[in-house]
Amino acid sequence: MKTLHLSAECYPIAKIGGLADVVGALPKYQNSLGVESQVVMPFYDIKFTQDNIFTKVYSAEFKLGTTSYKFEVLKPKTNILGFEIFLIDIPELLFTPYVYSNDDTDRFLSFQIAALNWILQLKEKPDVIHCHDHHTGLIPFMMSHCNAYKSLQNIPTVLTIHNAQYQGWFSHDKVNYIPKFDLTKMGLLDWDNCINPLATAIKCAWRVTTVSPNYMEELKVEANGLQALIKAESDKCIGILNGIDFSVWNPETDAYLIKHYAVSSVQSGKNAHKKWLCKEFELDPKKPLLVFIGRLVVEKGSDLFPEVFEKVIKNSNVSILLLGSGDELTQKGLQALKENNSGSYNAFIGYDEALSHKMYAGADFLIMPSRVEPCGLNQMYSLRYGTIPVVSTVGGLKDTVIDIEEGGFGICFDEVDVPHIIHSIERAIKFYEDQNRFRKTRKRIMKIDHSWDASAQSYITLYNSLN
Ligand code: ADP
Repeated sequence: MKTLHLSAECYPIAKIGGLADVVGALPKYQNSLGVESQVVMPFYDIKFTQDNIFTKVYSAEFKLGTTSYKFEVLKPKTNILGFEIFLIDIPELLFTPYVYSNDDTDRFLSFQIAALNWILQLKEKPDVIHCHDHHTGLIPFMMSHCNAYKSLQNIPTVLTIHNAQYQGWFSHDKVNYIPKFDLTKMGLLDWDNCINPLATAIKCAWRVTTVSPNYMEELKVEANGLQALIKAESDKCIGILNGIDFSVWNPETDAYLIKHYAVSSVQSGKNAHKKWLCKEFELDPKKPLLVFIGRLVVEKGSDLFPEVFEKVIKNSNVSILLLGSGDELTQKGLQALKENNSGSYNAFIGYDEALSHKMYAGADFLIMPSRVEPCGLNQMYSLRYGTIPVVSTVGGLKDTVIDIEEGGFGICFDEVDVPHIIHSIERAIKFYEDQNRFRKTRKRIMKIDHSWDASAQSYITLYNSLN
């Protein structure tokens, strides 16, 4: 069986969040289970495309409305990722130093059209086309209803929703950008008087998955306007929990770490990283270290951090280190807090893959007060690195973290507001005081198996049911 994944992100080529981690790992594990799994993504103007040599495998032209664009399909000369990857180069639209911008309609519509034009002429067609998020959400519609792609209509399509908050909405004014299609199917493109690629994908894909079972249940109640649709299509929907890529996220081999460690050496391994972090960021290593890593957006609850951190630093015995970027106001609040709080608090505003790995390794606790968390990979990385997660009980966090008071290993809270977050941090500090229990729990969480093996197999079972 041959599967083609289409995605805007893929680690290590282009990563904004968890989508990249999933698309960079799942194909590897599927290949090891005997499914030939490949990825198609845009050719951005970024480090990976600058540093590698590519071979052209196809070139042609396509039309977006009345404008013609040339495109090429490129492949790295060597298979560096453990699976085959094809990059679509549309110089005027996709060759940008960023992955996303404020208006991506033309970029991702073009990506999808070019990808389908390339697939159309492949001698050996994929057995399944697996789309990820709204950036590739019009593919199932186009394969079924556009005149040009009719020969692809019997290839099963799967949509994975990594985040239903973003849906790729655009106006009906651009409907003629979609290649000619059966006009009686116009309704499939529409949701609330807009063209909504995520809604269209939910309607047209053969199967829809989300990245955790609990998130699928939550989407039936609240999905940024699509809850009724998800409920109506629930027969073809299933939640499959993401895994983590042990070839990248393993403290025994992680290339970003300054000292490797296993369960038996967790104490010295984590101490070395905590010491490094505390020196680098001028924090007191004697206090428990609580970290946050992620996008500074409302869904992650990060708007509450300036107030929460200010109160916690004043009243509790804890060091806090944050790595992230996003909302301007939150960034300002977090920067301002640095003044007068040296020793207890620091923040790195930006994106830094290497630092993130060291933080998973050196922290005592990782906090995730998410309002929406489709799966959440951070808490799984943190478990693997022996860092206790402090999480709200939403989405995949509920599927993966059990509270210490319920026989589990994490600290959970139900309401995302300042008092509940502060209370959970205080619980973490108290837990840290019982070093015997704390150290035992560390060892225990490192052994929890969140590898991709089971999840990759669940996707294969899903593909098999469609062929
Ligand atoms: P989301 O996809 O919603 O951002 P996930 O938990 O699924 O959240 O995945 C987040 C991924 O992005 C993790 O690998 C996390 O370590 C990484 N990440 C997020 N922000 C940063 C940052 N500022 N620097 C380094 N890594 C980051």
